[in-house]
Amino acid sequence: MINKRLGILGGGQLGKMTCLAASEIAMSVSIMDHNRDDSPAGNLCTSFVAGDITNYADVMSFGNSVDILSIEIEKVNVKALYDLHEQGKTINPSPGIISLIQDKSLQKSFLIDNNLPTSEFVKVSDKVELMDRFNSGNIKFPFVQKLCKDGYDGRGVLICRKFADMNEAFDAPCIIENLVDIDHELAVIVCRNKFRQTAIYDVVEMVFDPNANLLDFQIAPATLDTFQTLKIQKMAYEIAEAIDLIGILAIELFMTKSGEILVNEMAPRPHNSGHHTIEACQTSQYENFLRSITGLPLGSPETLSSSLLVNLLGSQDYQGPVNYSGVERILSIPNTHLHIYGKPTSKPFRKMGHVNVLNPAKNKEIEYLNEIKSSFKTYK
Ligand code: ADP
Repeated sequence: MINKRLGILGGGQLGKMTCLAASEIAMSVSIMDHNRDDSPAGNLCTSFVAGDITNYADVMSFGNSVDILSIEIEKVNVKALYDLHEQGKTINPSPGIISLIQDKSLQKSFLIDNNLPTSEFVKVSDKVELMDRFNSGNIKFPFVQKLCKDGYDGRGVLICRKFADMNEAFDAPCIIENLVDIDHELAVIVCRNKFRQTAIYDVVEMVFDPNANLLDFQIAPATLDTFQTLKIQKMAYEIAEAIDLIGILAIELFMTKSGEILVNEMAPRPHNSGHHTIEACQTSQYENFLRSITGLPLGSPETLSSSLLVNLLGSQDYQGPVNYSGVERILSIPNTHLHIYGKPTSKPFRKMGHVNVLNPAKNKEIEYLNEIKSSFKTYK
């Protein structure tokens, strides 16, 4: 299988780390994205094809040039994937999984139909319907409005607690969810190959930056009791079986203040919540992603070391060519692994890299976090 030509739609940091894992076994990876210079994976892939991954013709021609097609972002032209699949192309994860996950209302219905716990929701087709349902008492504060399609990193999510918040409401197909009383946010990654071999990683705890709406830091494994961990891993297994997953799937969850576990959303590709697996686990999510989509045996997801993962974001007050500072201070923290994605341009809160601190001393986590965040700048 490693002789097959693998094609990946999208060449961001997830694609880059996948290419790094592929190079270890000399697996060739073609990447399609807009522009090689802006693509973190651009210089590491075997071949780069400039194109629009949301465009039917571009995806068709790229798909025809490879043996196995996959994704590192779910916003791709799914009609082309269905047509390529019809013609016999191996596409992992399947177009059906990608289209299920592209639409949050389909995801929520899938979870409910499969008796998986998730917050209640209704679908509205535009702002007028939202206002009508609100005025008739069908939707009540506090609620969360989420775009059905194309939202990411919190863009496309609006929390409404009072009437004024609704001025910002999206005028597009959306789901409306109850506002969950979140105690903490968790994630689990499951990987499965065509032989139904399944690898489930330890559950991690994610802490979000409320300003950037992005993952701020992550602790792995999460501090949960064994019962809760097994319950979440069982859910991951059931979801992978229900969708007949071939590939990797990240599942984001909420633990409510009353101890209830709810599935929030899913992503059928490597995920930010699995960056730590490169150093902290027996087999990284990127390697298992490659193994799963190419029909190889999976590696153990066992955790070898606890870790603190910190996202490195573009400086809030700067936009322009990147010029890093603070890296020396970060590297002086013991057991630190620094990853810089190589994006040429910095924008406020853009994901520019991450730091993974292995085996952080329990009482040092916040100190390290503050040290990393205050040191890193994307301009001099
Ligand atoms: P995205 O696809 O943009 O990542 P999410 O569904 O993950 O969107 O939502 C982003 C963040 O908004 C979540 O991590 C969580 O902090 C908050 N959030 C989302 N849904 C709810 C909800 N129903 N109740 C409370 N907070 C929520």
